Order: sequence, then C-alpha cells, then structure tokens
Amino acid sequence: MTNSLFGPLHDVAEEAGYADPPERAGFFTDTSVCIGCKACEVACKEWNAIPEDGYALTGMSYDNTGALGASTWRHVAFIEQSAPREVDQGDGASRWLMASDVCKHCTHAACLDVCPTGALFRTEFATVVVQQDICNGCAYCVSACPYGVIDRREDDGRAWKCTMCYDRLGDGMEPACAKACPTDSIQYGPLDELRERARERLGDLHDQGVTEARLYGEDENDGVGGDGAFFLLLDEPETYGLPPDPVVTTRDLPAMWKWAGGAAAALAGCVAVSFLGRR
Ligand code: SF4
Ligand code: SF4
Repeated sequence: MTNSLFGPLHDVAEEAGYADPPERAGFFTDTSVCIGCKACEVACKEWNAIPEDGYALTGMSYDNTGALGASTWRHVAFIEQSAPREVDQGDGASRWLMASDVCKHCTHAACLDVCPTGALFRTEFATVVVQQDICNGCAYCVSACPYGVIDRREDDGRAWKCTMCYDRLGDGMEPACAKACPTDSIQYGPLDELRERARERLGDLHDQGVTEARLYGEDENDGVGGDGAFFLLLDEPETYGLPPDPVVTTRDLPAMWKWAGGAAAALAGCVAVSFLGRR
C-alpha cells in the first residue's frame, strides 16, 4: 500500500493487519424516511449504558441532546425549513428534516491516527472503537476528528463515541440503533451492499422529482476515503450540521514531517558551521 493516510482504500481491515477479515460493515442512514422518534438514541443508550442527557429541550427544536457527544452516540436532528418546490403544495408549507447522526467510522480515521496510547483501534469489521481502559484523556482524537464526533466525558476525562455495537457484531447481531429503528432509516450490513441500495433509493427519489436528495459520505474519493457510516440527505450537508467537504486531518503528515526533517537538518548544518567557524 503506497499511502495509508489518504485516498481510496477498499480493504480497510486487511490494511489494519487482519489476515482474513469479514466484509466491511457499515451504516446507511436514509434520512428521507426518518420520523424523529428517537428510538435509535434510546436503544443506543440502553445497550451501551450511556448516561442520560436530561429532558430540557434546546429551545431551537424538539431536541434534548443537541449534538453528538460523550453521552450521545446517536443524535437525531430536527430541522424546520420552508418546503421545496416538489413538497410545497402551494400554501407556503414548511417541512421537518430529521436525521440520525453517528460516528462515520472513516476509512482514514484521524482519531485513530493521532491516539498515542493505542486506545483507538480498527476492528476486523473495519469500524473504529475506543478502549476506555487504555484512554488517557489527552483528547488528541477530539481535535483530530473532522466531524466533531468523539468527545471527552467531563466526569472521567476519557473519550467516548459510537462503537457500532462491536460487542453485538461479534455475535452476529445488528447494532442496537438499527434494530430499534421502526422505519429502516438506519440500515446495517456489508458496506458495498448498502452503497448499492443507497444508489437505487437515490435514483427512485430523483425519479419522483426529489432533486435535492443526495448521498453523503459514500464516495471513496472524498477527503476521508469514504465513510463506514453514510447518509441519504434531502438538502445540503450544512443544513444538517455536517461539513460539506471533510478531509482527514492527518492527510498532510508525511509532507509536514518531510519539511520538519529538512528544517532540522538545515538548523543542524547552521550550528555546525557556526561552531567550526569559531575555532
Ligand atoms: S468520524 Fe471522527 S471519531 Fe468517527 S472514525 Fe471518523 S475521525 Fe474517528
Ligand atoms: S429510530 Fe429511525 S425513525 Fe426513529 S429517529 Fe431514529 S432513525 Fe429516525
């Protein structure tokens, strides 16, 4: 492999050292059928024993969790906006966009690249998991994540995020959020199959005149090499609080180390010349 920090990388688990890994697992979240019931958030909390977030609404929407964080590994956004042409029946209607966000389990995961203790690791399913007993709370991963997903918990200082229910996958079960979703907005399975299904669904929506529909995170040529968790959106990514063009923050490390090495060599040369010049 010529470059493991950036670009398409189909055999992610093999690249991480697994000799004969299972098919890459992923999430396809089809926001066009989400009803905002938050069953996914609740199932995630229950299965993973995550602390509750309280019941106070943010005041901006019907939302008590606000964003992904150490105690919110699935977050359902509620976005109210004017209905676009194909939805508006001529009465100036508004619509709700609902979307269940999650860790993207990136092909090139900056959180994993920068972790100094090995607490973050790539699983045989090509997902990204934190081992809490090894995390030292340095938070390098928090600033490295291009999506703002991973977060330190205030009370214990360690970093937490979605594991794609690693403990369930090993037993052949689907993640708790996908199991609980009543509309199949969250689908779990082999990533290639999900991508195929998502493209078909996108084609159907376009045929129905929903021209704003788009896929987000499924492209292996994007700035993170494609996401293990990708989405069908009904508007621009920014509308949902997603970065339009995410790039793995460790992409330029080789070039940076090359420049740093060159600068160090030049400095050493100057010191040597000045030392020899004094003799
Ligand atoms: S979305 Fe952030 S936390 Fe999740 S794998 Fe990618 S870099 Fe890591
Ligand atoms: S469980 Fe499914 S339908 Fe309900 S909020 Fe989550 S993604 Fe949407």
